[in-house]
Amino acid sequence: MQSIPIKTYAAYSLDDAVRSCSSSGAIFSLLAELILDRQGVVYGVKMSADCYGAEFTSVTDRAELGKLRGSKYLQAKVGDTYRKVRRDLQVGKTVLFTGTGCQVNGLKGLLGQDYDNLICVDVICHGVPSPALWRKYVASKEQQQGEKLKRVNFRCKDLGWSNFGVKEVFQGIVIKEEYIPLKESSYMQMFLHNYSLRPSCYQCRAKKEKQSDVTIADFWGINDVAVEMNDELGVSLVLIRSKKGEKVIGDISKGLCLKEVSYEAGVKKNPSEYYSVAKPPQREAFFEDMTKISYLELSRKYLTTKKRPFKAVAKKKIKAGLELLFRE
Ligand SMILES: Cc1cc2nc3c(=O)[nH]c(=O)nc-3n(C[C@H](O)[C@H](O)[C@H](O)COP(=O)(O)OP(=O)(O)OC[C@H]3O[C@@H](n4cnc5c(N)ncnc54)[C@H](O)[C@@H]3O)c2cc1C
Ligand code: SF4
Repeated sequence: MQSIPIKTYAAYSLDDAVRSCSSSGAIFSLLAELILDRQGVVYGVKMSADCYGAEFTSVTDRAELGKLRGSKYLQAKVGDTYRKVRRDLQVGKTVLFTGTGCQVNGLKGLLGQDYDNLICVDVICHGVPSPALWRKYVASKEQQQGEKLKRVNFRCKDLGWSNFGVKEVFQGIVIKEEYIPLKESSYMQMFLHNYSLRPSCYQCRAKKEKQSDVTIADFWGINDVAVEMNDELGVSLVLIRSKKGEKVIGDISKGLCLKEVSYEAGVKKNPSEYYSVAKPPQREAFFEDMTKISYLELSRKYLTTKKRPFKAVAKKKIKAGLELLFRE
């Protein structure tokens, strides 16, 4: 348990196809593949089948890894995940548990002891939006589209990693794909304005007590440190917090472009590593309004943008199949 990492890296996977459907540099996927190759179990977050929520699940097969890839910007349901992890550990399986810092700490709290066969990876975390807001958004969106939301990619890199947008796929008689630039996404703007976060995110204890072996994040300051690594497909910040973490990053290093940097340079443009976001004065009113007014009214009331929340510059295409969009 230490807050200053043993080592700090800029890194990305050499597999461009996997990197393009990961949020940052696809370090998660490389670690997950390593554990699966050792007949282990990978725990992480997927969208629910109806797309109305995010939830923890476990994967034992590479073919299923796609559902864990990519950031889902809403609080994930934990359910009985920690107990399942404990069961896997007790029968000697190697487990990779991935989640936010508070989820890693929650798991460690339940376990109450160290396991050599457990590797914990957390993401640097801005905070998680309320799942109730996401449900309200999806319901409103489906009503507007007249079709069901089938997939969402919160970190679509079609226009580059640093210029990411949200891609949504609706399925009715035809499949509709909608790309929403970040600035035009009302849901993401409510998240980034910090209106929709869980109460604990404004005073995040996990930022002071890091219990993971490795922390991964976007390396937003890469242009100041190693601009040659930025090809706009995504670069990760990798913080090594334990000997076990050092070992697993060493084990995947053949599949990585890796450069050691100072911790200060690594986190310079990533304050969420150590600061909680400030609670906006409107936050309580926002949550009250969320139960009283429609999603469209909520976005009009709290977002200053003059543009319409959904349609403004959304690029629509009709595609023959979902497989083209997301690799599983
Ligand atoms: C809610 C949230 C807030 C974040 N805030 C920041 C930030 O402020 N700054 C920053 O640099 N990076 C942040 N990240 C991390 C970043 O977006 C990438 O997830 C990270 O860099 C890993 O990228 P990757 O390319 O290696 O793998 P990816 O394939 O993109 O990562 C997938 C991993 O994210 C986990 N995950 C996805 N959604 C959730 C969720 N809702 N709850 C818990 N775990 C989840 C999966 O289990 C998996 O381990 C955040 C991620 C999340 C989920
Ligand atoms: S900001 Fe902290 S409390 Fe909120 S989800 Fe992230 S790790 Fe958990």
